[in-house]
Amino acid sequence: MKQNLRLPGPTPLPEEVQRAMARDMIDHRGPEFVDILKRCTALLRKFYQTEGDVLIFPGSGTGGLEAAIVNSFSPGDAVLAVTIGVFGDRFARIAEAFGLDVRRFSLPRGRTVEPDQLWQALEENSDVVGVIITHNETSTGVTNPLEQLAPLVKERNLLLLVDAVSSMGAIPVRTDELGLDVVVSGSQKAWMIPPGLVMVSVSRQGWEAAQKARLPRYYWDFKGARNSLEKGQTPYTPALSLFYALDTALRMMDTEGIENIWERHRELGEFTRRGARELGVELFADERYASNTITALRIPDGVDGKALRARLKEEHGVVVGAGQAEMAGRILRVGHMGNVSRDDLAEALTALEASLQAERAVAV
Ligand SMILES: *Cc1c(COP(=O)(O)O)cnc(C)c1O
Repeated sequence: MKQNLRLPGPTPLPEEVQRAMARDMIDHRGPEFVDILKRCTALLRKFYQTEGDVLIFPGSGTGGLEAAIVNSFSPGDAVLAVTIGVFGDRFARIAEAFGLDVRRFSLPRGRTVEPDQLWQALEENSDVVGVIITHNETSTGVTNPLEQLAPLVKERNLLLLVDAVSSMGAIPVRTDELGLDVVVSGSQKAWMIPPGLVMVSVSRQGWEAAQKARLPRYYWDFKGARNSLEKGQTPYTPALSLFYALDTALRMMDTEGIENIWERHRELGEFTRRGARELGVELFADERYASNTITALRIPDGVDGKALRARLKEEHGVVVGAGQAEMAGRILRVGHMGNVSRDDLAEALTALEASLQAERAVAV
């Protein structure tokens, strides 16, 4: 059976990307790689909407979050960690692991941060030097209104670190316009390539912070990565096959056009939410801020979520994400980012309808 991989990452690969990865290894210190790295970096900057630096490291998204922390702060620094879900909690925990004075501002799952709430939290924690926040919370399917939140942080001249792992490349993130200092994204989400690369932008203020930051770091050191980048290299052996993939995927994305990609995701998000409503399935998220890359659906009462997911996979080839942490068994997560069409989602919704019917019959 053909697989319809509807996880919120890893996401399906275009055939062109799969073929690109079949290429043999090249000299990673030679001119061919210089060209690949330059092309990838230039297009990433375009998608990041930044004139600043974008560094690429081998690693998963979480590695990028750690990189953001260790390059920005010193032991004992106070930071405000705004969390609306599992990934916000993870960002906060990384900061705690490195000995920062973390003020957690935690909001109910399925909600976003309202600007006045953030303003209040900043008033109450006026000694923080930075704010860490998730843009698109993949565990609950909501997108924080960064355009309204970022100005509150920047008017205080605080450092703003953003986890945009499941939004960058699919939902607008205007890095320079909003003054975002460090923005992390991951290869296996909207970039249409396998897991294994993490991309991190650094603003001018981000570089000033990195200069002063005393947290220990070696592999994730931004300065070292930038020095290498200036020579068209990476500090350590690059994940070459993933660069072949990225080079191809970014070219495809550039051909589609950034505005068109944003619009496609907006339509796919709406299509999925409307489809779910028509099935009588409730959305987990606050509709106003529902994500256009992942939709979280409440598992109807009396339906066993694990059995439902198994049936979707075995009978329809549709693979959806489970709920994480306190959402386990309560929600399903349907990914719609990257290499995905309306047909893929229509098929997933049809399969969901049939599987719900079958599971309800079992439950009776
Ligand atoms: C996927 C994801 C991550 C990173 O996860 P990894 O498994 O480390 O790649 C971080 N934040 C968000 C919002 C994500 O969706």
